[in-house]
Amino acid sequence: MTDQEADVMIGLETHVQLDTNTKLFCGCPNEEAKKPNENVCPVCLGHPGSKPRFNENVLKLATKTVLALQCDINNDVFFSRKTYFYPDMSKNYQITQYEIPVGEKGELKIEVEDKEREIGIKRLHVEEDPAKMKHVGGSISDSNYTKVDYNRAGTPLLEIVTEPDFRSPQEAREYLQQLAKILQYLEIYYPESNFAIKTDANISIEGGEKVEVKNITGTSEVEKALSYEISRQKQMERRGREISQHTRNYNADISATEKMREKETEEDYGYIFDPDLTRQELDERFQQEIRSSIPELPHEKYERFQKQYGISDKMIESLIAEQQMADDFEQITEDYDPELVGSWMTGKLRKTLNYNELTYKEAEVELDWIEYIIELLEEDRISDRNAEKVIRKIIENPQDPKEIVENQDLLKAEEDEVDQLVAQIVGDNQEAVEDYRSGDEEAVNFLVGQVMQESEGKADPKTAREKIIQKIK
Ligand SMILES: [Zn+2]
Repeated sequence: MTDQEADVMIGLETHVQLDTNTKLFCGCPNEEAKKPNENVCPVCLGHPGSKPRFNENVLKLATKTVLALQCDINNDVFFSRKTYFYPDMSKNYQITQYEIPVGEKGELKIEVEDKEREIGIKRLHVEEDPAKMKHVGGSISDSNYTKVDYNRAGTPLLEIVTEPDFRSPQEAREYLQQLAKILQYLEIYYPESNFAIKTDANISIEGGEKVEVKNITGTSEVEKALSYEISRQKQMERRGREISQHTRNYNADISATEKMREKETEEDYGYIFDPDLTRQELDERFQQEIRSSIPELPHEKYERFQKQYGISDKMIESLIAEQQMADDFEQITEDYDPELVGSWMTGKLRKTLNYNELTYKEAEVELDWIEYIIELLEEDRISDRNAEKVIRKIIENPQDPKEIVENQDLLKAEEDEVDQLVAQIVGDNQEAVEDYRSGDEEAVNFLVGQVMQESEGKADPKTAREKIIQKIK
């Protein structure tokens, strides 16, 4: 830890929108609607006399996350009303858990610059998302007027609150990446969906007052928002100005935080027990059922891969970034060399996916297809260059690589074909040959290049080089 970081304290509150079929307390579809205020009913609008009903699927997802984050589970689940007046909450209270969250006292391990740190999870609870506000003609602080869309009101949220354990923006970013990966493994969150993860951060320096920065979307944005806020607070201190406890908004367009309002304290809200919702008990059988549905988590997979496959940590990280890629890797290595499979999947394949801005899952590449290319590589029947050509084609347009290879004649040239080519190129380029003979070793690169070009990438460059040198020395 550098001196600069030693005095920084950061805690995060992360809201995960859950992709359930219906909203948290009513039967409205939980999905993006074409028009504003389309998926609404008296319950999520908070009309008088309407009664909420709890979506039990949310309890399963929450419990799953609680167990994965090694929290203590509370088996008595009930809800409270958090009372406040704000246009995004038409019933003037938000239904949330206050007194007893579903889980508390958990932890998540992160590693930044080879240093492992344990981040405490203070609590994990369930609540409903408020409506979405659209600030017309500006940001929250300078727009002319605001529109409210209640489609989002009632979307189930998991709120995961950490202890103030982060000492740098990088640690916060790493934590959010780890958390997102765990949620993907639990099949709770998919980066390709519209359901977002948003974070509020509490930041203080040198034991001063806490400033809350709200609504940061995305993991790299968190790092930017925190870096900005830390340097803002340090500048204030340097000028001898006091930092007051207040709430700021993160404006991603200008990568800066802006003052919103003085900070409310928990007492300002006036929590009361919600009498419309019944208490739920998470009995042992329910907990056992959820426990058995939890897959091997990313860090467990990481450790097992280290022991089992003898491939580099970097490769393992890239593989387990997506569960399906890790699973396919394991299947293919039943028949092929893990080093070859790993380096190819995390090299050429990952590079092509990144170029097309696709995840492995989105690319819909079939296991057999990857296996076919690996087989050609292991048997040395295709050059790296042509293998890359094939993977580019199948990622741009999912199709069987066998046909591409056959139609485009992409397999390596036969031995005598290469011999013929080498003889031809050497014959046609006497000048380069003379250069080589008079000591210019670089000249051979030109000849290899000519052979590669003439063979349309089918010749193996290493073999071609050996054959050329043999012929002209
Ligand atoms: Zn509704």
